[in-house]
This record gives sequence, C-alpha cells and structure tokens, in this order.
Amino acid sequence: MKDGQYGIFRDDHLYNAQPDKNGEYHCPNEHVCSHKPTKLKCNYVKYVDSHLRPFKCRHISCVDVHFSSPACLLRHERAEHGMHGHGSKPHLCKFADCERSVQGNGFPRRYNLYDHMKRVHDWTSETKTSTAISKDKKESVKSIKRKYVSEGLRTFL
Ligand SMILES: [Zn+2]
Ligand SMILES: [Zn+2]
Ligand SMILES: [Zn+2]
Repeated sequence: MKDGQYGIFRDDHLYNAQPDKNGEYHCPNEHVCSHKPTKLKCNYVKYVDSHLRPFKCRHISCVDVHFSSPACLLRHERAEHGMHGHGSKPHLCKFADCERSVQGNGFPRRYNLYDHMKRVHDWTSETKTSTAISKDKKESVKSIKRKYVSEGLRTFL
C-alpha cells in the first residue's frame, strides 16, 4: 500500500504537533481516549487518524464517508467502487477449467500469468523454443544440400 497517495488527507494542524519535553507525543484527545503518550511520531499520527478519520472517499456517490486508515479507505474503494485492480486483469489463464481463466479473475501482467501457468499447470514455453531450434537445423541442412547441389552441378557441367 502506498501511504503517500493518502497522505494528502492528513492536512489537519494536529498532524504537525511537536513532542513534549520528554520527547513524547500526546494524543489531542488523551483525556477521553486510551492512547498513551508515544515517542514515535507514526504512532501519534495513527492516534490522530483514529479520531479525525481523515480518509474520505472521493467517489461521487459517497458523501461524508470517511475512514481512520488508508487501508480501510482502500478496502471500501475496492468493495464499493470496484477500484484498485478489478477489471484491469486482462491476462486470463489459458487453461479453460482454471478459475483464473474467468473474466475479471485474470492477472494484471503477462508475467504473472506465465508464472501462474508454470507453477499451477506445469506449463512450459519449450514447445516454442524447440520449434525454433529444429527450424534452424533444417535451414543449415538445406544450405549444405544447396552447396552440394551447386558443386555437383559445376562438376557435371
Ligand atoms: Zn486518542
Ligand atoms: Zn465510497
Ligand atoms: Zn490457471
């Protein structure tokens, strides 16, 4: 999960609070909540998150829907709005009886698909490779033959 993308929601001045003389951050609500003073700013930020719930859904159908963590917002966006990956998995498994061959259940990248087919279906790309090799062999045989033929012809003539 990329936190930076959601960092923009943390625009309240509380997020810029300074620690006390002991180097501890105090939750702004500490008299009513159970958050203990912490030396870690990231913990303090989570305290503020849990009170402000700053992670708002930006979807047009959601008014005043907000969450206390980027993960919760992400989960909501995925479940309610089909965001973050759904519908963008175009690489379906080539094995028809596989659950990953169903539309919407494929892989985001071709690499992931090949990896899956190798692991799950013992699929290899060797067929393609061996064809290329035998083709090369045929080619060289032909060129040798051609050489003999032309030499033979020359002798004959
Ligand atoms: Zn608190
Ligand atoms: Zn929403
Ligand atoms: Zn499969």
